[in-house]
Amino acid sequence: QLLNDLLDLKGNIRVFCRVRPFTLGENLGRLAFGPVVALDTSNLILQLGDNKSKKYTFDKVFHPGSSQDEVFSEVEPVIKSVLDGYNACIFAYGQTGTGKTFTMEGISDSPGIVPRTIEALFKQAGDSNHTFLITFSMLEIYLGNLKDLLVPQPIRAMDPLPPCLSIQMDPKGGIEIENLVSIQVRDIYQALKLYKLGCRLRSTASTNSNSTSSRSHCMIRISITCYNAPERRRETNKIWLVDLGGSERVTKTKAWGRRLDEGKAINLSLSALGDVINALQRKKNHIPYRNSKLTQVLKDSLGEDSKTLMLVHVSPREEDLCETVCSLNFATRVK
Ligand code: ADP
Ligand code: MG
Repeated sequence: QLLNDLLDLKGNIRVFCRVRPFTLGENLGRLAFGPVVALDTSNLILQLGDNKSKKYTFDKVFHPGSSQDEVFSEVEPVIKSVLDGYNACIFAYGQTGTGKTFTMEGISDSPGIVPRTIEALFKQAGDSNHTFLITFSMLEIYLGNLKDLLVPQPIRAMDPLPPCLSIQMDPKGGIEIENLVSIQVRDIYQALKLYKLGCRLRSTASTNSNSTSSRSHCMIRISITCYNAPERRRETNKIWLVDLGGSERVTKTKAWGRRLDEGKAINLSLSALGDVINALQRKKNHIPYRNSKLTQVLKDSLGEDSKTLMLVHVSPREEDLCETVCSLNFATRVK
């Protein structure tokens, strides 16, 4: 409870920044000093050349050496508040190659936020006096279409594609994703198995349509229902875990045709997301949820009574400085 009060004091939207380490290849033959310097646990300095630099402040800065454990320990209070009846959204934002998937999915010996969240939810639900019903869904937004990641794609080219999901708004402001598969999971292992299935479908689907996962948003929804717990804020609530599409800007010179469309769709939805969070932070009367599928889907999980965590990822490389500046500007906008 104390933790939640603290979270409330800090506001419902928190913005973290994670700086990826140099990879082995990038490190070869030179000193690994880039323009991004994590000053301490909340400040970052960006060296812009000519002795110019800019300081950015976050709720938390993870330097290149930060571990998945360190990141998750800052995420855990949000998971706790989900069992107390809050909705929550956790986003990984950033240019392609900056570690969004590393943070959310992780790698085999270093699991990320999604598997850790699943584990923490089941542990905490098990420790509680209440009985929880937990369901798992996973979808992808690609070129403005919603695809269920728990429904297998056809194997043969002539087989019909499963229909895209549609969003239904009800007059009370709630939303429903029609036909989204939602599977009850009884333990950590069932949930992890579904998650692996969704990840696999995501990668195979992306080779079929000749796109890559960097041009779609991958969204996991875990719903928690707790009956007969009057002290809880609501009976059913949910947490969304979102690996956003790459934020790099597309220009006509670098992309054309489908690539350009994909890039435009991602850019539009990311700026719609920025607009929504910005409007929420400034307690505007009108929150522009309708401007993208991404924000429509999240409408009832992204608002006053919800916890939002935005993890902005940046590259340590000089070559990526422009995109880093853009990502940090986005972070400033949603703070
Ligand atoms: P994105 O999903 O943003 O495109 P990835 O998560 O695929 O980026 O990361 C790009 C590469 O960098 C991957 O090989 C990944 O394992 C590695 N990487 C990213 N972040 C880290 C980190 N914090 N520590 C170690 N390796 C990382
Ligand atoms: Mg990725």
